[in-house]
This record gives sequence, C-alpha cells and structure tokens, in this order.
Amino acid sequence: DDGPGPFTEELLDVLARYNVKATFFVTALNSDYEDMIGRAYNEGHSIAVHTYSHDYRKIYASEKAFFDDFNAMEDVIYRQTGQYTKLCRFPGGSSNTVSAHSYVGLMSLLTRAVQDAGFQYFDWNVYSGDAGSTTDTAQVAQNVIQGIQEQPVSLVLQHDIHRYSVDAVETILKFGTQNGYRFLALDMSSPAFHHDLNN
Ligand code: ZN
Repeated sequence: DDGPGPFTEELLDVLARYNVKATFFVTALNSDYEDMIGRAYNEGHSIAVHTYSHDYRKIYASEKAFFDDFNAMEDVIYRQTGQYTKLCRFPGGSSNTVSAHSYVGLMSLLTRAVQDAGFQYFDWNVYSGDAGSTTDTAQVAQNVIQGIQEQPVSLVLQHDIHRYSVDAVETILKFGTQNGYRFLALDMSSPAFHHDLNN
C-alpha cells in the first residue's frame, strides 16, 4: 500500500526474482515514481486504487470528495496501464474510525457505493505492523511469517513506502516458497476479508 515510491523498484525486483505476484494499492503521493505502476502491471501484478491523495481529511469529508479523489487515481492508473481497475482499498481500511470525525455513517455509505459501482474493496487479515508498531525489518518479517501460519488464506498488509518493510519481503518469500505457500495477486474473485465497519 501507499506507493509507488522510492522503494517500489526494489520490491518489484525481489518479486521478479521469486516469480511472485502481488497487489499494489496505489496513490499519487510520490508522483515521480508513477511509472512503477506501469512496470508492476506489465510484470503481472494487480493494481488497485488506494486514492490519489491518501489525505484522510480530504477524502473522508463527503462521498463526492471521496470519489473525486478516487477517480483521479483511476486516471493515473489508466495512463500507466491502459486499464481502469475494479480493485480498491480504503485508506485506513473500511474499519477506519477517522471518517467518523467528519461524516457519521460515511464508511457504510462508501462501502456500498464502491460495490454498487462494480468495485471490490479489500481489507486484510494479516498485518505486518509496518505502519506504526515497528520499523524493524526482522520484526516485520516475523509478524508476517507468524500471521500467515495462523490463517488458512492470508491477505497481508505491507507498505512499499517503507524501506524497512520492503527489505523484509525476501525473508517472507523465502519462508513461503520453502513451506508450500502459494502467493497470488488479488482479483475480483479473491477473498476480500472485509472488516467490521466502525462508521
Ligand atoms: Zn494507506
């Protein structure tokens, strides 16, 4: 999530070495790296909208504000891949509580609205801890490796804007490939692990 950014290229390189496909929930936070969306798509990864600005205050102000921002990211994705995507993730996940501060009931409304528009939104069931609880590469790897052993099917959340998280990926791929796991990019038929809504 949250890329592309300065470490996305390194992530794509390690995924290519292991022939593993992933899903990139993209933003325009680091527009200098926009072409990494095209590279990821061309290398068989899934591309998903994570909003253009990733600015909670802005996107969670109203339904219109959300979709204006969301659609701006779709335009970037189209420019890079020649396709619009039907996959998305809400910043903070669908269970975020931030949106309640500006607009009570907004997540109930938005989760319905994106699905009515033909999108699938994805949350996660394994969290790497890389967005607050740790900045340590070994700890990120351990969180994921432990997490996936507790689930029959895992949807892992990591952020490619953090070097310490990208650096954990090879350890995770090594463990997975040596222990019979299959890594798959998300598509419309994948389990979405929707969280319970808080707003
Ligand atoms: Zn995010």
